[in-house]
Amino acid sequence: MLPTTRDSLHVRSRRLLVGGGVRPGIVELALGPRGAVVVDVRPDADEADAIDVGDALVAPAPLDLHFHGCGGHVVPPGGDPGAIDLALRDASRDAGWSHELAVPAYEWIATLPVPQRPPADPVEHLAAAAQAVAAQPDAWCVGLRIEGLFLNPLRAGVWPPETFRPPDTALLEELHAAAREAGGALRIIDVAPELPGAVELVERARELGIVASLAHSDATWEQARRAIDAGATLATHTWNAMRPVTHRDPGIVAAVLADPRVHCELICDGVHLHPGTIALSVAACGAGGWVAISDASPFAGCPPGPYRWAGTTVTHDGVALRDPEGHLAGSASLLDVAPGVLRGIGLDDVAVAVAMGAAPRRVLDPSRALGLQVGDPAWIVELH
Ligand SMILES: [Zn+2]
Repeated sequence: MLPTTRDSLHVRSRRLLVGGGVRPGIVELALGPRGAVVVDVRPDADEADAIDVGDALVAPAPLDLHFHGCGGHVVPPGGDPGAIDLALRDASRDAGWSHELAVPAYEWIATLPVPQRPPADPVEHLAAAAQAVAAQPDAWCVGLRIEGLFLNPLRAGVWPPETFRPPDTALLEELHAAAREAGGALRIIDVAPELPGAVELVERARELGIVASLAHSDATWEQARRAIDAGATLATHTWNAMRPVTHRDPGIVAAVLADPRVHCELICDGVHLHPGTIALSVAACGAGGWVAISDASPFAGCPPGPYRWAGTTVTHDGVALRDPEGHLAGSASLLDVAPGVLRGIGLDDVAVAVAMGAAPRRVLDPSRALGLQVGDPAWIVELH
């Protein structure tokens, strides 16, 4: 029976995701615009008037660390966070993630390129994004990320190399300060570790509390290791836009997969990575050592057709988006397809929930445990 007031409720489940494992217990949730937010978690406790959800898993809601937009909406400053949230709410409903007690939040990090036309100043661009997000404090956007700046033109993918800069700690400091002044936070900075100045940039990012993510890179194993030693803790869409692996030149891909200090992003759309490549990566990283991302383009969830993005025309064929040279241009899917892809390689619902919600939160806050924590939006889900 549902309580008469929906402000706060106690939920009993045989499966709370706590500390990387599953335990029975009670979770208290407060219902609000961000979803059902965890107020208290009590493993192994019971409460007479709790609402019993049986075996439904209660876990932190999905958090997409690598997200460029969806439904025709680009992430701020170009797009409206509220419109993006509505599209994500529909996608999570269609995916069957909703529970009668609560629609889960689908949180996201606004992942920015640097616009080429008109040429944008990265600091002004980031400040505008931070302002747009700060204007909607209940939005599911939890921070900002710049992908298209300190990258190697050899592995540019769809990004225009004209917007790339050499790694520059002074510029990083300016970006950090500009986001803060505008009421936001730069949470992740992408950098190709082989570029001159990259190791210093990683060190400064760590000092500022910004996650350094190794990205769009032609790095050797040794070059990647130096950046990991300096404090890089994330690998951007691992395998994609990276130097290929061979048995005598393992390169950045092997370096990030083999190192437990690094969380590896895996695009789980069924297109960017063969399921076998995901299986190999999951085996290498272990539970909690990798995160499912969408890398959703603004045209994820849109009908097939040509679209303008990143200064070029990309073609959406119903499954993937490609630029005129055939490069994949971000994903045509959201995280809603990830559970199916991951269940297809034999992962259970706990592993899927860890990769989609618990592990991404630990990327942003390495001190936290791998499971429900006060302040998280909760996800009450039966994944099939
Ligand atoms: Zn990328």
